[in-house]
Amino acid sequence: MKSHYDILIIGGGMAGASLACALLPASQSLGLKIAVVEAHPLPEGGQLRYQPSYDSRATALAYGSRSIYELMGIWDTLQTHLSPIRQIHVSDKGHFGVTRLSAEQEQVSALGYVVENHWLGRVLLDRLQQDDAANIDFLCPAEVTAVEPAAEQMDVGLKIDGESRQLSAELVVMADGGRSKLRERMGIGYQQQTYDQHAVVANISPDRFHGDVAYERFTDTGPMALLPLETLQGEYRCGLVWTVPDAEVEEVMALDDQAFLQRVQERFGYRAGRFIRAGERHAYPLKLVLAQEQVRRGLVVLGNAAHALHPIAGQGYNLALRGVVALADQLIEARKEGRLLGDLEMLQAFHARQSQDQQRTIGMSDRTMRLFSNSNPLLTLGRDLGLQLLDLSPTAKTVFARSAMGLDMPAPRLK
Ligand SMILES: Cc1cc2nc3c(=O)[nH]c(=O)nc-3n(C[C@H](O)[C@H](O)[C@H](O)COP(=O)(O)OP(=O)(O)OC[C@H]3O[C@@H](n4cnc5c(N)ncnc54)[C@H](O)[C@@H]3O)c2cc1C
Repeated sequence: MKSHYDILIIGGGMAGASLACALLPASQSLGLKIAVVEAHPLPEGGQLRYQPSYDSRATALAYGSRSIYELMGIWDTLQTHLSPIRQIHVSDKGHFGVTRLSAEQEQVSALGYVVENHWLGRVLLDRLQQDDAANIDFLCPAEVTAVEPAAEQMDVGLKIDGESRQLSAELVVMADGGRSKLRERMGIGYQQQTYDQHAVVANISPDRFHGDVAYERFTDTGPMALLPLETLQGEYRCGLVWTVPDAEVEEVMALDDQAFLQRVQERFGYRAGRFIRAGERHAYPLKLVLAQEQVRRGLVVLGNAAHALHPIAGQGYNLALRGVVALADQLIEARKEGRLLGDLEMLQAFHARQSQDQQRTIGMSDRTMRLFSNSNPLLTLGRDLGLQLLDLSPTAKTVFARSAMGLDMPAPRLK
């Protein structure tokens, strides 16, 4: 551990570890000294134990996120355990609206990919511990307890091996997640809006192969997504994300596996087969959170610490990843130009660009959520007509699909 770093990243979760991977080539070519500080211990023997970022959830990566991981050089490893999405089937329970998007029609090999969080975590953290990552110190388990601005740098208080240490950095990146205590401690305000819902997440096994289809099903109590997962030891698997009103979540979590599967089947129908096994369940409260201040001199807030979205459109992490690459690009350019990495003007320019992407993505997820959680007959008719029209219009579908795939954004560089 050094006493001063060019960049200190708080949080080795999906966003923080991705930023370190994105900066890895520059850490070699430009000599950037980077620290990633992660509070949760790494498991022994290479197996990731329960950790908030790398839990039993699966994440739908948009096609655009694949290009990002290709640039980082980890795609080849990542793809050994992920499932392509070749079709997306969107339907409205009890109504006529249905639409289907297909990779073939959009002339791409897949519309997106589903990766289990613990595998993504393993690949990212392994990358940071390879021989060529010598300029990146992974401090774990270690907790950042304080961040204070000082002249031309940030002072960082750290707890490691039971001892308090004081470090400094030119730039601190807060990627410490949606429950960031530091955000509060540093007086960074945020807008928050609750959806009065929880996401109940579980892996479930249907009695037949999912055929690389992702399902989004809107029901009168909230949407359900069923994501295709890798088949393990002959067992077909899908990742369920079921949006349940707060008032019902306790009851749903208390159901035994058989009753749970029956309830899911009744809500979802049989288009993906008969559900025969359910894995461990987790429930996450759903909120829309947006940090009002995402940059200060010497400080950037990133990932879930900056924004948390309703998972309905599977966009939260994809948005975070676009922010990760944009920040890495900006920092590499700044270092090449000899600017300070904590330069406020440069960070504000970065934030202005990200803010447009955030507003657009949050707007899309939030509108979809509200439209499909409403049982008003006129809105129901409108959305069903919308789904049917989308199904009939190849151009509209392509626009929708390109946006969902993250292909309507400028290509990342990382040079
Ligand atoms: C049910 C559900 C389904 C989702 N599905 C999708 C999807 O399909 N597609 C998609 O794009 N997105 C999805 N998301 C969003 C996605 O999960 C988040 O965007 C992602 O987890 C954010 O990662 P993060 O690294 O910002 O935060 P986190 O995952 O919370 O990681 C923060 C890390 O910081 C560490 N930490 C915290 N405080 C400190 C400290 N003081 N010192 C050191 N370390 C610290 C923590 O230990 C943790 O490892 C979903 C979210 C939910 C809830």
